[in-house]
Amino acid sequence: MKVWVDKPKCTGCAHCHDVCPVAVFVMKDINAPDVNSDAAPEQAQWKGAHDQEVYNKWANVQDGHTHFKEKSVAVNGESCILCQACLIECEGECIHIIDDAGTEYKSIYK
Ligand code: SF4
Ligand code: SF4
Repeated sequence: MKVWVDKPKCTGCAHCHDVCPVAVFVMKDINAPDVNSDAAPEQAQWKGAHDQEVYNKWANVQDGHTHFKEKSVAVNGESCILCQACLIECEGECIHIIDDAGTEYKSIYK
């Protein structure tokens, strides 16, 4: 399984990190040098600007989660069992999973 995060859309909520049963995701500070170390394609890498639509939706939400200080990095995609828990919980709707047959699964926030 190949897993990557569309970084500009990631709110840093860490839901994916918290729900994944096989530790696919780690949270990295937005200034960490290895924040782009998953399989995200060029257009989905972190270059310093949050997606404006996602930012406007989540920046002022007080739900106990820190927003926009970290990004999720899918460092262990090969362990993914496609339980889809992260896809349901992802605030930024920015997780992409591609199975071995090439079928892509995307986040849809509950
Ligand atoms: S779908 Fe894969 S990456 Fe997402 S929570 Fe389940 S095992 Fe983890
Ligand atoms: S659940 Fe989605 S928005 Fe939240 S940290 Fe993970 S990838 Fe980013």
